[in-house]
Amino acid sequence: MHIKKDNMYIIPIFIPHRGCKNECVFCNQRKISGETRDVTEQDVRNEIEKHLEMYKDKSKTKQIAFFGGSFTGLEMEDQVRFLKVANEYIDKGLVKDIRISTRPDYISELILKILKGYNVSVIELGVQSMDDEVLLKAKRGHTAEDVVKASNLINKYGFELGHQVMVGLPESTLEKELETVRKSIELKPKMVRIYPVYVLKESKLWDMYESGEYTPLEIEDAVNRASAMYEEYIKHNIKVIRIGLQTTEEINSKNEDIKGPVTDNYKEQVLSNIAKKHTLDKINKAKDNREIIIKVPEEQINYIVGAKKSNIPQYESGYSGKVRVKIR
Ligand code: SF4
Repeated sequence: MHIKKDNMYIIPIFIPHRGCKNECVFCNQRKISGETRDVTEQDVRNEIEKHLEMYKDKSKTKQIAFFGGSFTGLEMEDQVRFLKVANEYIDKGLVKDIRISTRPDYISELILKILKGYNVSVIELGVQSMDDEVLLKAKRGHTAEDVVKASNLINKYGFELGHQVMVGLPESTLEKELETVRKSIELKPKMVRIYPVYVLKESKLWDMYESGEYTPLEIEDAVNRASAMYEEYIKHNIKVIRIGLQTTEEINSKNEDIKGPVTDNYKEQVLSNIAKKHTLDKINKAKDNREIIIKVPEEQINYIVGAKKSNIPQYESGYSGKVRVKIR
């Protein structure tokens, strides 16, 4: 049980808030990406060059990723300008292809045809929830039906589809999140990202938090919900390529301008929680008094024993024998 990573380098290009006319309550793109100004073609070039130079394994596949805003919401000429820069590197054989992230309501047959012509191969959709009430409360400005239509079109045009879903949106519950996952699975994404909702200063959610209209999840709840969602995806052989936002200088548990289930090891907590659940299931089936030795692959041992071995006492409580964890 582990997060599967594609065996490739991803060159991330952040295009903060450009192209997006929405104000989702949880969003503050400038804060998320750490960028505050418009991105130029030269910026894109510089960023690509910087990454290409940095990569040690020159033979490994490389992909350029336009993240951070709603790429297909940009003016078409801006999309094309950025895509052309990326294609300079594809033409030189230095990069394989391109991935973008966008909103479900910014997908059309025309847009997909253009993206296809410029070697975009992966499209990640910000789904967030498949519950219309939750989407409305989050001021997403699109419906679950928009997700269905966009996902079907993306699949029809032969792109790899990605879904991003959120844990802990206003009015959301574990049941609604699992329903979101089930509806997402029906749309056959190849990969998924699961993000807990953080309350960022200067976002609408911050005002809702300060006025008491929104209470963020506790970390434990956010971990339990993401665990259930992760398991559902994995059961259907859908890769979960990220759990939680990456810790950065701005996005971290020490930043007072971010509230909610903010922790620097969310992914590890989720994976450890799942590993603990499965291990406890096995222990509960074992006969009392016998020593249990759990053999696990080296890369999973930290998840099984938990941070500072916190899972071990839980394995031993309620079981009269000794429980040991060993590397397989
Ligand atoms: S659509 Fe995306 S970029 Fe735009 S406000 Fe919402 S989350 Fe932010």
